[in-house]
Amino acid sequence: MSEYYSPSIEKLIEAFEKLPSIGHKTAARLAFHMLDASEEEAQEFVSAIINAKKNLKYCSCCYNISDTDPCPICSNPARNDEVICVVEDVRDIMAMERTHEFKGKYHVLHGSISPMNGIGPDDIKIKELLARLMNGTVKEVILATNPRVEGEATAMYLSKLIKPLGIKVTRIAHGIPVGGDLEYTDEVTLSKALEGRREL
Ligand SMILES: [Zn+2]
Repeated sequence: MSEYYSPSIEKLIEAFEKLPSIGHKTAARLAFHMLDASEEEAQEFVSAIINAKKNLKYCSCCYNISDTDPCPICSNPARNDEVICVVEDVRDIMAMERTHEFKGKYHVLHGSISPMNGIGPDDIKIKELLARLMNGTVKEVILATNPRVEGEATAMYLSKLIKPLGIKVTRIAHGIPVGGDLEYTDEVTLSKALEGRREL
């Protein structure tokens, strides 16, 4: 807290500071940037946040975030219903889509199994995934969880549940740095990882 700042600017800095990976210095920079912006620009920024919060919902099929339910991917008849790519996070769908390689559908788990953090199978969208597999349409499930301890454990857990259903289970190939995030993996590496997936 600095005595040079007014309570209003302090409040704005504090608001930015609550965002992930924003320290005090960056928060101050963003706050002053917003002050330099026109009233209209500031209003647009605020509206973008409010509208996203208001309009976005989870797709009741794949749990992607979307303006519509079902989401545009689930409702696209050109996409293959027989292959489901399972990811941990909505942002991983965006990463996969950037490769333009995958034409199937997705399922977002919204996390990974992590006993250390008290996250068990019931805390992520596993039941919902299994329900989708029951009608016999799906022929392959690609496990694209992150190559970390939790992601690997989740892939193993899912593989044990899904294989007895007579569905092929594959895991995206390595090449994605261990401990890395799909979200930050470049398109070429991610395309190769998808292409080189192996059966579990
Ligand atoms: Zn969907």
